Amino acid sequence: MHGAVAEAGEDGGEASDVLLDAGSGRWGWWVTGGVPVFTRGDVQLVSLFCRAWVRRIAGHEDKRIHHAEGAGAEPPPASPHSLDAGLVDQFGRRATDLRISLIDKCNLRCTYCMPENGLPWLKKEQLMSLDEVVRLVRIAVETFGVRELRLTGGEPLVRHDLVDVIAAIRSEHPDLPIAMTTNAIGLERKAEALADAGLTRVNISLDSIHRETFAQLTRRDQLEKVLVGVEAAAEAGLTPLKVNAVLMRGINDAEAGDLLAWCLENDFELRFIEHMPLDADQNWKREGTVSAAETRELLGERFDLAPTDEDRAVLLRSALMCLIRALALCWAVWA
Ligand code: SF4
Repeated sequence: MHGAVAEAGEDGGEASDVLLDAGSGRWGWWVTGGVPVFTRGDVQLVSLFCRAWVRRIAGHEDKRIHHAEGAGAEPPPASPHSLDAGLVDQFGRRATDLRISLIDKCNLRCTYCMPENGLPWLKKEQLMSLDEVVRLVRIAVETFGVRELRLTGGEPLVRHDLVDVIAAIRSEHPDLPIAMTTNAIGLERKAEALADAGLTRVNISLDSIHRETFAQLTRRDQLEKVLVGVEAAAEAGLTPLKVNAVLMRGINDAEAGDLLAWCLENDFELRFIEHMPLDADQNWKREGTVSAAETRELLGERFDLAPTDEDRAVLLRSALMCLIRALALCWAVWA
């Protein structure tokens, strides 16, 4: 599982295609073009104003369908736009990344992920076969507008036909970015074959570069194998190489700076991700997690931190959202 990061696409522009097909026209554009860039609270607020219009649009569409069916006509052919709609949630956000877990097994036992003795593993015939994975990707790309694929597990390198799976997907989708989240054990032997098969890049799950901490966290003394795997991935061109780390209070939080220094030195991108309550050992506690603010503070003791262009864009967007909220509230009071 490697501490999954929320990666669903949230591109407001993408989602605007969805309802335009249902209604078209000024209101349709406003509803669909406006909602996806809002936060959940904004969506709820705006939905108060939009619900009637959405009903009007939907009702208009229903009437057209009902009318056509009532007249004994053939059902209309599926609009190409309905396929473009893709995977859209109730807030209008469009998911364009697909994450496929290829196997449940793993060769580590991270304390926050798996119990010491593993799990009741699935039988081989219960896993998706190579053909099924390829078919699933085909449907996702061709029907639901998926534009990026991530392979994960368990540990995907444990799957014996991993190279063949990637090659088969690549042969159908020459331009699809295919990433893999891995703990890197065994990557030393497979990195080149994976790159040749069409893997684009890897994310490495690594919470510590100190042997003892790594062994404590993963219940396996295998840091050396991870590090040579990471090196092989970089040499094979599976880049940009990203490192995903989970910080846990009193366990590896004091090592956050070492991890960052190592990533900077090797030109890897480091992401501290959420310590989720997967709770393999039933001992997750909120007090054991390390917040983003604390992480910044920890790193700030050793590094000069500055906002990136992306951070500035987020700040600007938040300010705009506040302004829009204020305007919407004024409108509500006025109306
Ligand atoms: S490396 Fe294995 S045990 Fe650790 S988080 Fe990933 S899947 Fe779970």
